[in-house]
Amino acid sequence: MSLRLIVRDATGINLYECRACADCDLAQVPEQDVSLSTLVQLIIMDDEEVLSTRTLWSDEALEKSKVACKRGLDLHKVLLTLRDESQKRGIGKE
Ligand code: SF4
Repeated sequence: MSLRLIVRDATGINLYECRACADCDLAQVPEQDVSLSTLVQLIIMDDEEVLSTRTLWSDEALEKSKVACKRGLDLHKVLLTLRDESQKRGIGKE
């Protein structure tokens, strides 16, 4: 199953609703290696690289993600789902 569908099934969030406006990038923290808007695009492209990004495993980015999207996409839930998926695939942190 693609990463986008995994996110949709786990959270109900349809990332095709992302408008690529990059407003969520205003919440960027120094330890991020990719912006949140890029992270969303990587999910849509089903690029497994997203599962090992520093952004995904940044607790500061996770906190900021709660209010990052002004268009109502709950990026916090998206990140938590990706962390779970990363661990299932043996990629992410224990
Ligand atoms: S703010 Fe929301 S709609 Fe805009 S790029 Fe980020 S995730 Fe997509």
